[in-house]
Amino acid sequence: MPRHCAGCSKTFEPRPQVPDQAYCSSPECQRARKRQWQKDKLRSDPDYQANQRAAQRAWSARNGEYWRGWRQAQQVSAARDRVSSARNDGRRLALPGIAVDPAKMDVSILPPDLYWISLRPDLPSRSDSSWIVEITPLGETDRERWTRQEMT
Ligand SMILES: [Zn+2]
Repeated sequence: MPRHCAGCSKTFEPRPQVPDQAYCSSPECQRARKRQWQKDKLRSDPDYQANQRAAQRAWSARNGEYWRGWRQAQQVSAARDRVSSARNDGRRLALPGIAVDPAKMDVSILPPDLYWISLRPDLPSRSDSSWIVEITPLGETDRERWTRQEMT
């Protein structure tokens, strides 16, 4: 029997394997479902809450380092540009002494933006001290919703 999605309230047909499916299969609503799952889990499971906090702290520590590396890489590349244009002018310019750890310069990565970070407890983790997380760019809908919330 069709029902209304708890996320977007559009009508959808629950899958036979998931008789009490509350969210439709759109990626946006599936993310909403996961967030809801985590909220409930946080309320009901103190261990999960502690793990989640630790994971977030670890992540922001790593992320801070990551962006420091990224900014340094930007500075180095800007300095290189200045050097090569100075050479073209026949002047000489020294590279400023910026120490860059090559391990932190994998620039194949996420551009500066807002992202969701969700734990994926449904995927196997290698150890008790590591977690698989999903990093999803903030959708337009979320952005708009939050901008509206900020204004009201
Ligand atoms: Zn939906």
